[in-house]
Amino acid sequence: MLSTQLSDRFEQSTDRRWSELEHLLRQLSRVVILTHKNPDGDAVGSALGMMRILNKAGHHRVSVIIPDSSPAFLRWLPGYSSILVYERNPESAEKELTSAELVIMVDFNDPERLGTEIQTLLEKIAKPSVLIDHHPGGTGFARYNFSFPQFGSTAELIYEILKRLRLIDLLDTDSATCLLTGIITDTLGFKVSSSSPALFRTVADLLEYGVKIDEIFNRVYNQFSAERLRFTGYCLSEKMVILPDLQTAYIWLTKEEMNRFSHQKGDTEGLVNYPLSIAGISIAVLFTEQDDHIKLSLRSKGDLPVNELASKYFKGGGHLNAAGGKSYRSMKETLAYFEKILKEFLNQPKLPPDNEK
Ligand code: 5GP
Ligand code: MN
Repeated sequence: MLSTQLSDRFEQSTDRRWSELEHLLRQLSRVVILTHKNPDGDAVGSALGMMRILNKAGHHRVSVIIPDSSPAFLRWLPGYSSILVYERNPESAEKELTSAELVIMVDFNDPERLGTEIQTLLEKIAKPSVLIDHHPGGTGFARYNFSFPQFGSTAELIYEILKRLRLIDLLDTDSATCLLTGIITDTLGFKVSSSSPALFRTVADLLEYGVKIDEIFNRVYNQFSAERLRFTGYCLSEKMVILPDLQTAYIWLTKEEMNRFSHQKGDTEGLVNYPLSIAGISIAVLFTEQDDHIKLSLRSKGDLPVNELASKYFKGGGHLNAAGGKSYRSMKETLAYFEKILKEFLNQPKLPPDNEK
């Protein structure tokens, strides 16, 4: 038997809010679960895992809506075929949202990450909303906000919430597979945000449901096309710029280059992590040219807060060691601006630790 005891990883001060959420879920049956744009493994895994469990609870009709499609390496997830992709089918997605009684948003805390169309629609329909997320900061824009940045992934947080709501007994192989995929992808296969023993207890519990962890790794990380691997080689050999004095390396890609290598959604995923494997490099950035802006993906080692860099200079945000942002300048200007602000960012005085204030 799994441990379903009530001792959990939340403060007692949140007790009342759990009762509210329990009450809400008992009262309302038509639920839409929404993720952020460019949904990753944590967003899709969390949404599908939660959908399956709420559907099994009996009185819910739950659907998952993602703003745009997710990378191909997630499309095998149990329940994926039932997902509504807003960008491809806005009418059905709007109908579903309009008839929902409750909207649960997972894995983001900034409404901008929904895209303007869904944001506007949500404002118009004004449904009760719940936010379940693990990103730091954020405005708590939902009616009920469950933001816990101490968790390495939303999927890990959802597992803990299910225990708290006494829904954990509804977990099965499929939903456990979805949650474990979320945990694996957000921790980069247990390489980051994975120092808590509790995480591995959760993983062990999920494995009790018959999840095949090696199959998840295989399906997520070993399904690249030959072009993708060659593309990675090109990016590393031709397009990586190293700034040793600033402990930084970046890769920049134009649309033409991505087209040349038949770039598919998700092909640049993980690329930004390679430069961090160089000794002495603590910040890695990937600049990719999009239709109307340059997208930045930032990663760091140690206590360098790339989320602060992203929010201060590139209209973005994220986690301490993984963040994203946007630039509306040309690629050339963006790179020059980045090198300029990077010096400023690295030279800024560090805030004193709490006990020295
Ligand atoms: P990625 O580089 O994989 O696109 O994003 C890494 C992390 O940065 C995401 O998990 C997310 O937390 C954050 N992020 C990416 N893009 C944005 C953005 O435009 N705004 C904010 N606030 N966060 C972002
Ligand atoms: Mn996440």
